[in-house]
Amino acid sequence: MLKNDQLDQWDRDNFFHPSTHLAQHARGESANRVIKTASGVFIEDRDGTKLLDAFAGLYCVNVGYGRQEIAEAIVDQARELAYYHSYVGHGTEASITLAKMILDRAPKNMSKVYFGLGGSDANETNVKLIWYYNNILGRPEKKKIISRWRGYHGSGLVTGSLTGLELFHKKFDLPVEQVIHTEAPYYFRREDLNQTEEQFVAHCVAELEALIEREGADTIAAFIGEPILGTGGIVPPPAGYWEAIQTVLKKHDILLVADEVVTGFGRLGTMFGSDHYGLEPDIITIAKGLTSAYAPLSGSIVSDKVWKVLEQGTDENGPIGHGWTYSAHPIGAAAGVANLKLIDELNLVSNAGEVGAYLNATMAEALGAHANVGDIRGEGMLCAVEFVKDRDSRTFFDVADKIGPQVSAKLLEQDKIIARAMPQGDILGFAPPFCLTRAEADQVVEGTLRAVKSVLG
Ligand code: PLP
Repeated sequence: MLKNDQLDQWDRDNFFHPSTHLAQHARGESANRVIKTASGVFIEDRDGTKLLDAFAGLYCVNVGYGRQEIAEAIVDQARELAYYHSYVGHGTEASITLAKMILDRAPKNMSKVYFGLGGSDANETNVKLIWYYNNILGRPEKKKIISRWRGYHGSGLVTGSLTGLELFHKKFDLPVEQVIHTEAPYYFRREDLNQTEEQFVAHCVAELEALIEREGADTIAAFIGEPILGTGGIVPPPAGYWEAIQTVLKKHDILLVADEVVTGFGRLGTMFGSDHYGLEPDIITIAKGLTSAYAPLSGSIVSDKVWKVLEQGTDENGPIGHGWTYSAHPIGAAAGVANLKLIDELNLVSNAGEVGAYLNATMAEALGAHANVGDIRGEGMLCAVEFVKDRDSRTFFDVADKIGPQVSAKLLEQDKIIARAMPQGDILGFAPPFCLTRAEADQVVEGTLRAVKSVLG
């Protein structure tokens, strides 16, 4: 076995880590944590330190770690058939079964699943399908995609553009011109503190209407949004938001893409976030929870309305020119089938709803009165604590103070609990596996209170 020092040296010399401060890491200034094994909600590093992973990796290990049923399905599939492609009508029992299982669970009016590998490529697929769709319908000008500030939709060229976070644009020459952004439905960060939630929704709608007016509805193809903002701060939409937004989209014949990479397959206590908030999407993006990250797999679920036009397109133009070598990879598909079965067998969607509500309620009870906690919010197995310098005036800390990262580091150091300092603002995010117990939720809340007191008094 390799010595730690050797492994750390190889890591610094050879491994280009994503979303990492490259210079600090190369200088050995950032934590080198090598994870070795995991079970349930706990991961264990190479030194034998056990950590409670209250963010399920990157909110993806939804069924929890160490599920042998999924591991065995992967091994069986690899032994029988590790790979065959899905081009020109080919498939495997696993990929065909998984498509059926997804459609059985999807919101109404959904028709087919296109399989990819991760959330970013699935959203890239969605944009291409939408452009193709409007070309087939004879409206080549209708191509722009509206996304929200603070939305997260991936890191590719178009998907990094859809992502409405500064870090993902800065120095990358993004966003590309076909992507435009509108207001985030983030009531806590509203400019006018006197605004009611209803007034704030009206403001978001007015902003959207103004953007459509300015650009011209005949140039706008689609609107993409996560049912609940995730990486942008774990922000549930204000009441009535989705209903009002969808009215505008319908009026202007703008498609709706629900990015359910985080919310799909149970995180909000319902199978899809669209069910939870009454979205009627034309396309749904799925990834993470589809396999609980046991293998990379994503998908674009397209509605009947979109599918019919795509079919017409191939009658007119020949096969659709879009495919990945690993679309519907059999090992990913086998993992997906086993994962969805496990979610059903263990009632994990309802557990996510119940224990998630408990986590949110106990967090609010324990931290709600702290002078530097401005907002505690969430839904199902998503929870966020947002810090403020002053509650009454809702003044935020200076970014340089790094309050969010400090609290998350303290939580890790003191109680060996992983929560995520969200990338924009001092927000501590929780997104545990769905198998979290109430006792583990208590552990998370108690540790968080201790960490907050250690950093902020
Ligand atoms: N969409 C949403 C809502 C996400 O949260 C993410 C990743 O966190 C993505 C898309 C991108 O997925 P991936 O990182 O698998 O490319």
